[in-house]
Amino acid sequence: MRLFEGTPFDIPPKCDLCGRLDSECICSAKMKARVAPEKQIATLRLEKRKKGKTVTVICGLTDVANDLPEVLTKLKNACGAGGTIEGDSLEIQGDHLRRIREQLTQIGYRVK
Ligand SMILES: [Zn+2]
Repeated sequence: MRLFEGTPFDIPPKCDLCGRLDSECICSAKMKARVAPEKQIATLRLEKRKKGKTVTVICGLTDVANDLPEVLTKLKNACGAGGTIEGDSLEIQGDHLRRIREQLTQIGYRVK
């Protein structure tokens, strides 16, 4: 029983994501765990790999809170480079700090 149930002040709880009533919500548990990009801070750094290769590593965006495959695809396209998901971080081959910062900011993430 909710407070004000059955009165004009009774506002049924709605889902923040799809805007439907909680009872009609179509969001999966995974979607509900998502966090708005504006509330997340991505950290960028360069790492040296074997054979002197450089990769740009993006940390701070977890797999639970984000659609990492989608973010990775955007970054790969923007940089024209390959990349992978390593647990809760993304790796893009090469030094793409500036472009990745631009892309993440465009999506709405805060970047350190
Ligand atoms: Zn929903």
